[in-house]
Amino acid sequence: MKFRNFKMVDYVVYGRGCFSQLDEIIAPHRKEDAPMVFLLDHYFIDNTAFKARIPLMGNDVLIDADVTHEPKTTYVDKIANGLKEKYGTVSGVIGIGGGSAMDLAKAVAIMMNNPGQAHDYQGWDLVKNKSVYKIGIPTLSGTGAEVSRTTVLTGPTKKLGMNSDFTPFDQIVLDPELTKDIPRNQRFYTGMDCYIHCIESLQGTFINAFSRSYGEKALELCQEVFLNKKAWDTESDEQLMMASYAGGMSIAYSQVGVAHAVSYGLSYLLGTKHGIGNCIVFNHLEEYYPEGVKEFHKMVEQNGIDIPVGITKGLTDEQFDTMINVSLGMAPLWENALGKNWESIMTREKLRALYERL
Ligand code: NAD
Ligand code: ZN
Repeated sequence: MKFRNFKMVDYVVYGRGCFSQLDEIIAPHRKEDAPMVFLLDHYFIDNTAFKARIPLMGNDVLIDADVTHEPKTTYVDKIANGLKEKYGTVSGVIGIGGGSAMDLAKAVAIMMNNPGQAHDYQGWDLVKNKSVYKIGIPTLSGTGAEVSRTTVLTGPTKKLGMNSDFTPFDQIVLDPELTKDIPRNQRFYTGMDCYIHCIESLQGTFINAFSRSYGEKALELCQEVFLNKKAWDTESDEQLMMASYAGGMSIAYSQVGVAHAVSYGLSYLLGTKHGIGNCIVFNHLEEYYPEGVKEFHKMVEQNGIDIPVGITKGLTDEQFDTMINVSLGMAPLWENALGKNWESIMTREKLRALYERL
């Protein structure tokens, strides 16, 4: 048996207010005439107080990252090509925002040092050259994008990440203060992404002690935040940020499962966002994750969240087929969830029936 040798994030700073150290963290990475590029989630773009804290210098560039839709390969190319044309190269790319802004930053940093187009690198280990220096700074907790070796992109033919040893950030800045004002629903949906990562990792066939130790801790933190808290407090922001990190570490060495495989189909066809899409699917997965789904229902109720239903109503056979194809294309996820003979368990008919229930 050959074991995977994982590239991890190089540096981590954690703590309330640690965003203020960004200036000194990036100083040694600045190259003459090559700007630092800050990709800022558009949520913050009118927040002058926050923008004033971004350590812009010289010809640094601040880009308003439009995350209305989850990142597309064409958007990555547009940003990277624009930077190449104007500056040749850059000192680094810093993504500040949710999973979408962080993924965008990883992909742009990779494309600054790789030829061709972003969709050429959707897959496993296709990236040829090391990226420029890159930093991830989460402002939402749950996706684990801050620690993962992928950046999920929607391309012309598929929704698939650039999975590679060149994808993880060189540095992450985990400052729970940045997550204090997230609207209730968004906080829940992204938080549930983490909860679902844990359930899928812990209940999967790929589980090992490495993944279990992170997955169990992350699960406990999610339960603490979404079941045991009467009100949202600063401690829960801290717990959720660390849950996201540990949940990401858990799936790094295992895999996600049914909810993710099915939700990828939804998001490809309908543009459903990752967090809410996972919730919409997980809501109906009693057959695969009975205890996790029961607990999820409790969390939904206790936090007063609406999970949409009926979103596949009225879709055509062709549209169902598209979702089924995207979903069944995620072989490692199915194998983790259902074992080696998953294809005989999750038939097209069974998956269609599941999509019809959503
Ligand atoms: P998101 O990044 O798509 O953001 C959702 C919304 O929240 C956006 O409108 C954004 O502007 C807003 N927002 C960001 N920070 C905020 C804040 N502090 N307060 C209020 N609103 C804020 O949401 P997400 O759930 O963090 O990320 C989902 C994305 O992450 C998807 O594109 C998904 O594919 C990707 N993802 C990547 C990985 C990975 O390993 N790379 C893993 C899971 C998900
Ligand atoms: Zn996820």
